[in-house]
Amino acid sequence: MMTDIAIIGKGPAGWSCAITARMRGLSVLVLAPQHDASWLARTERIDNYPGLPEISGRALLDAFQAQALAMGAEKRGGLVRQVLPTDGGFMLLVESDVVEAKTVVLAMGAARPALLPGEEELVGAGVSYCATCDGMLYRGKRLAVLSASAEGAEESLFLEKLASRMDYYPLKPHETGALPSSVQVIREKPEALERTAEGLCVRTKEKTRAYDGVFIFRSAVSLSMLMGDLATEGSFIPVDRGMRTNVPGVFAAGDCTGRPLQVAKAVGEGNVAAISAAEYLAARG
Ligand SMILES: Cc1cc2nc3c(=O)[nH]c(=O)nc-3n(C[C@H](O)[C@H](O)[C@H](O)COP(=O)(O)OP(=O)(O)OC[C@H]3O[C@@H](n4cnc5c(N)ncnc54)[C@H](O)[C@@H]3O)c2cc1C
Repeated sequence: MMTDIAIIGKGPAGWSCAITARMRGLSVLVLAPQHDASWLARTERIDNYPGLPEISGRALLDAFQAQALAMGAEKRGGLVRQVLPTDGGFMLLVESDVVEAKTVVLAMGAARPALLPGEEELVGAGVSYCATCDGMLYRGKRLAVLSASAEGAEESLFLEKLASRMDYYPLKPHETGALPSSVQVIREKPEALERTAEGLCVRTKEKTRAYDGVFIFRSAVSLSMLMGDLATEGSFIPVDRGMRTNVPGVFAAGDCTGRPLQVAKAVGEGNVAAISAAEYLAARG
């Protein structure tokens, strides 16, 4: 079923957008990884959110979510990897699934991954972000997994069964104890990916190692990979006063639109994005 609004991100901007969209009678799907990456979840105490002095970030976030879900918003776990325009709206690739929506609100916060040199050019040519989608292509092959979190270690369990050999590079410190002993954990910082006669190489300061495939797991996606047609200014998304991006039917709210990076601003922009999305849908009939 095609939802009226797919909201990418479950921080204050995303939940505020969901609440107002439900008030306008729209169907709402909020998409974000299970593991909470909202900056608000990491904030011990907020003193400048009106009406709720000294509230913890976690408590405020839980209250936003409870209100949105009680009003009928739905949520689904998973990182959105790509948004593609279709005839009637948009198709969103969520991990290895597809979600369809008439409009999209980008509420992904300010965290953006820095891509490795060579990474973007090698996507689809050996570099993959989805074990379920592409794992089978590498049966009996040499694999490297580059992962920013323990979720990558879990994905690796499936890949390890297929691969002839697997190396695991933690991009940030995290628990890797779940990995079988056949997987070599390499604690060297990957500096670049490159194609050579030996294969697809991961270069670190210490050494360059060749593989047939490289899987990369992070908790965010670069804007260029998420949506090729989206205009950007540095790592932010320019919007007009209605939170409209340059792509008709796509709106943005919160930290991803730029400074100041504040909860009250994110909540306000989420509200405006929902109203603009409702107007857009009404105009289309
Ligand atoms: C330590 C700290 C202290 C702070 N103190 C204050 C304060 O006192 N007052 C104040 O007003 N603000 C404060 N802030 C800032 C505030 O937390 C942010 O401005 C606010 O959380 C922004 O909300 P957001 O919804 O735009 O983004 P976020 O809250 O960052 O939420 C982003 C969401 O998008 C999801 N996401 C990202 N990429 C994808 C993707 N590709 N697919 C699916 N989901 C995705 C994330 O998982 C997350 O759920 C503080 C921040 C920090 C880190």
